[in-house]
Amino acid sequence: MASLTTSTAPTSISGRLQKLWKALVEPTRDIANLAERRRIRFLSTLLLVYFAIGAFALIALPLISPESTTQLGSFFALLFVAVPYVISRTRYYQLAAYILILVVAAVSCFVPFFAGSSAPNPNRFSILYFMVFPVLVSSMVLSTRAVIPVILLALGFIASAPILQPQVGNISGPFIMIAAASILLYVFLLHRDGLERDRQVELQNALKEAELANATITNTNAEVSSKNQELARANALIREHARLKSEFLATMSHELRTPLNAIRGFTSIMLEGMGGEVDDEARHMLTRINSNGERLLNLINDVLDIAKIESGRLELVEEPLNMMELSDQWKQQMSVLAERSNLDFEISVAPDFPSLIYGNSQRITQIITNLLSNAFKFTKAGKVKLEISRNPEKWTARVIDTGIGIPPHALNFIFEEFRQVDGSSKREFGGTGLGLAIVRNLCRSMGGSVSVISELEKGSTFTVQLPLRTESVSAIKAP
Ligand code: ADP
Repeated sequence: MASLTTSTAPTSISGRLQKLWKALVEPTRDIANLAERRRIRFLSTLLLVYFAIGAFALIALPLISPESTTQLGSFFALLFVAVPYVISRTRYYQLAAYILILVVAAVSCFVPFFAGSSAPNPNRFSILYFMVFPVLVSSMVLSTRAVIPVILLALGFIASAPILQPQVGNISGPFIMIAAASILLYVFLLHRDGLERDRQVELQNALKEAELANATITNTNAEVSSKNQELARANALIREHARLKSEFLATMSHELRTPLNAIRGFTSIMLEGMGGEVDDEARHMLTRINSNGERLLNLINDVLDIAKIESGRLELVEEPLNMMELSDQWKQQMSVLAERSNLDFEISVAPDFPSLIYGNSQRITQIITNLLSNAFKFTKAGKVKLEISRNPEKWTARVIDTGIGIPPHALNFIFEEFRQVDGSSKREFGGTGLGLAIVRNLCRSMGGSVSVISELEKGSTFTVQLPLRTESVSAIKAP
């Protein structure tokens, strides 16, 4: 399999240069303060620039003017820049900064000021203007407070210049200019520090807010996870209750069926006159007992089926099925209902339907008869049709009627247990609301599905789809 590899090494020339620059100016790791790191980076950069200028002067000046005597000076300047550069990236960077300031002062002012001092020169004072450079450099590489001694030293040096060099001339110009520039610079530095402080305060506030939000999120997470645990416990409880309910229903249904069968048996015997003469009124009552008993038995059977499916105790043993024979059987079974309701009833099996498929005939019959019973029950006129067809992997049973139809909102719930479109006590049609729930659960248990489309006053079509097995597989256990 092809894989993507990512590399962190910069490939472009500019990327490499950036990396090299970073390696040259980055402070050591023990310095955590961001402002300090920024100052150090700046200081190292400045020192490198001075170093480059010094190196250039050392190499280029003898070539340009061989008689030049500044070579030694350049060499020392280089040395004075190289040493502070080495220490500039450590925590002793302040020392490096002072050395740099001294070098700047020496190169720009001290040395030119004293050089050639033997010749009287009333304009020598103009060199003192260059004293602004050490002040400027100090403002860049030192903290605001540390700039003050540099300013004072610079002004002190200018003030003492007439004593050091009597022929210097009038120093008031450089003194006033350096003093004014220093004051302006210092005010600017104070303003910059104020801005920085405001930014820090804002940052702290934002940090506090973020911490607060973090704490809230942590709390919410803890609540969510405890709610999840509660939910998991509740789910386990619900599952256990459902299992117990199904077990209870299965046992209860079984226990109810035995005495009910006995009641039905005895009423049948009495109706046949085997228990003695029965007058008309008693016969009427016995018939009602029998038919109500039958309804009760059907209900119990439905409840038992649901309970069995839900508790996973329904065994679906596969057997070979001949669809033509099965459909004949359904036709016979359901024709009574069709005749009673005076409806057309038709069953068609697609010609390409396999002559033999595998499935559980009892449960498939239960699905089909439940759907057909409903179709007959909810159709007053017209026709009920069962169409059996196949596609490559499934076979389909479609129960089509021309009945009352189902309103759209009810399509969502009619497959739920005990749910009916008309659930009122005055409803026109009998039934328990379990038939479709059984159909859906049985379909699912067999790896299939059931769906419905319907239009009010036009009719409904229920479609059952089940896996088409033309070879036997072992018994499927309901989930
Ligand atoms: P029931 O015992 O009430 O028939 P079912 O679960 O079989 O219970 O059906 C649930 C409800 O779905 C029915 O009460 C009825 O309202 C609706 N229903 C089912 N089949 C049809 C149909 N063919 N035509 C119209 N309504 C139907």
